[in-house]
Amino acid sequence: MQIPYAKPSITDLECSYAAEACRSGWGSECYTYISLFEKGFAEHIGIRYAHATSSCTGALTLCLAALGIGPGDEVILADINWVATASPILHLGARPVFADVLPDTWCIDPASIERLITDRTRAIIATHLYGSPCDIEALLAIGSGRGIPVIEDAAEAIGTSIDGRAAGSFGICGVFSFHGTKTLTTGEGGMFVTDDAALMEKVEMLNKHGQNPSGTKQFWAEVAGYKFKMSNIQAAIGCAQLSRLPELLARKREIFHAYAERLDGLPLAMNCEPPGTVNGYWMTTAVVKEGRPFDRDRLLAEFLAKGIDARVFFWPLSLMPPFKTRVVNPVAHALHLRAFNLPSYHDITHQGIETVCRVVRDFLSR
Ligand SMILES: *Cc1c(COP(=O)(O)O)cnc(C)c1O
Repeated sequence: MQIPYAKPSITDLECSYAAEACRSGWGSECYTYISLFEKGFAEHIGIRYAHATSSCTGALTLCLAALGIGPGDEVILADINWVATASPILHLGARPVFADVLPDTWCIDPASIERLITDRTRAIIATHLYGSPCDIEALLAIGSGRGIPVIEDAAEAIGTSIDGRAAGSFGICGVFSFHGTKTLTTGEGGMFVTDDAALMEKVEMLNKHGQNPSGTKQFWAEVAGYKFKMSNIQAAIGCAQLSRLPELLARKREIFHAYAERLDGLPLAMNCEPPGTVNGYWMTTAVVKEGRPFDRDRLLAEFLAKGIDARVFFWPLSLMPPFKTRVVNPVAHALHLRAFNLPSYHDITHQGIETVCRVVRDFLSR
């Protein structure tokens, strides 16, 4: 592929931090970068506690388990989602319940949630999709009236804010991903964040094989736990990336606006930034307006022929074998067939963006 769809921005700084952690981050220093990364990340988000994990999937599993979610429980999430948001619900023995999405932000539709709440609903997961902000006020209002916590999946939303507050800091907790495709990377990695001291304590205990962090008995588990840890070397890369975050986010905005300018005038909607919000623009996405005939797979084949690795929008999870269920989510089920993701990695050149846009323009003007 001449133009990949995602690739991290790695400089000498990340390499030197990783080398330093590899040389001396052992023994009594084996948590140094992890603690620095957690502290720096919590500060960036504007939240009290942050706990580094092996992935966002791990962070989500820990938080659902810490909230006591298990067999017989239901968790509501958007039908359009990455599969990682739903799998942990199944693994804990609970049932994912798929809500429809809004046509402009592509995030969970609060009105759809209202119809799906039962006396078994234990949590709502609010995914800020492709950097677009959820209607978090509405979601919190639905949850707080009924004692249902809102978990924010902010894996794609570093840099996204609502009324000046970072995505991931509104719900009972938030989870982030540092996978190699995300805006800030540690290769693989994730973060759990919360202001709730008791929930933080539970998550830390579960991620230590169920050992009580303040317990006195060595190698003693109080409950069956998990282990989704981040290594000190990954955290060192994370510290370097965090210090470059303003630059990484500025570049994502530049890329989005470069696409938006060049695709202006075509029958497309792109990632939206409602008043009072900032979109982190993790990945530039385009949705062809309804009413215009569009064959997504043919466009993707044309990208491929030009060496461009563009991607499909997320599928509705309700269509996939592990989650297959009959739902009435008309927006989600129409949207994904009209949408595609454009290469948005930091180092893409103006010429690369122009090449991608030419394929889109040619395709849509036929
Ligand atoms: C990437 C992603 C995840 C999973 O992150 P990992 O770190 O790969 O586990 C979860 N949810 C969403 C919305 C994502 O984009």
